[in-house]
Amino acid sequence: MKIAFIGLGNMGGGMAANLIKAGHEVHAFDLSEDARARAKESGCKTYSAISDAVAEVEAVVTMLPNGSIVKAVYTGDVIGKAPKGALFLDCSTIDVATAREVAGLAEDAGYTMVDAPVSGGIAAANGGTLTFMVGGSDEAFEKAKPVLEPMAKAVIHAGAIGAGQVAKMCNNMLLAIHMIGTCEALALAEKAGLDPQTFYDISSRSTGYCWSLNDYTPAPGIGAASPADNDYQGGFASALMLKDLRLAMAGASDAGATVPLGEHATKIYEAFVEAGGGGKDFGAIYTTL
Ligand code: NAD
Repeated sequence: MKIAFIGLGNMGGGMAANLIKAGHEVHAFDLSEDARARAKESGCKTYSAISDAVAEVEAVVTMLPNGSIVKAVYTGDVIGKAPKGALFLDCSTIDVATAREVAGLAEDAGYTMVDAPVSGGIAAANGGTLTFMVGGSDEAFEKAKPVLEPMAKAVIHAGAIGAGQVAKMCNNMLLAIHMIGTCEALALAEKAGLDPQTFYDISSRSTGYCWSLNDYTPAPGIGAASPADNDYQGGFASALMLKDLRLAMAGASDAGATVPLGEHATKIYEAFVEAGGGGKDFGAIYTTL
């Protein structure tokens, strides 16, 4: 299949390479020359304009930084430039309202679109083990599934258009909240005189167990291996968690939902990023307690 891939950054570079490995012809574009050069090395055909990259393809995948860029790319260079009937898959993490708006514009112009944000970081993008949460009609999902599968360990139909972004914002708000809770419990255990490793041994097998504690323990040298063991380098940057929390807060406001812990988590990550921690893994909140 001929697939255009727009946005070849930390995530998109590895994802495009996995489409190549699956035997697809990938027409790639990124504003960055370096990113284009890396994509060429992994077997993509590279282009110097999006409109050329999408001109002859059956599907367009985008992996871009935010909603305003996604909207500008689709309305400026993809809709009307890709062949009629092409399938559009936006895998970026963006706000629900923009995802629905862009899909509406694409569908009005005769295309099929899904929002397909991912869970899993750069290692999962490189390894082809992302989880995709897909919003779109049943028919759109069936078309999207084989395109996403070479990049995925799971492809899940979340519901109608926008539902993928709803799933993503809810998942990451929950993740931020249980990460902060895990950090607080580990720090409290230690300050109150309990060896944090012993706390881990008990709570990871008790009702306090959760992914942040059991699989990504944010205290150095305790429990599961995680970026905490490497001074919080690598992993999922706090700045990206803050981006996702802000999207969740906007989504909650649009939906009239009450999210007091989500709001509090957003403030905690805002303060951490403002203090210079944006590049550190999101488990580094532990160091502030
Ligand atoms: P990144 O900044 O590494 O990559 C984005 C790429 O888009 C860059 O190479 C940039 O040059 C390119 N770009 C920007 N504007 C463009 C335009 N107008 N046309 C073409 N290319 C353009 O970001 P990333 O980490 O790859 O993240 C991409 C998306 O995936 C984001 O929405 C992010 O929230 C989401 N995400 C990231 C992670 C992660 O761990 N990095 C995990 C899950 C989801």
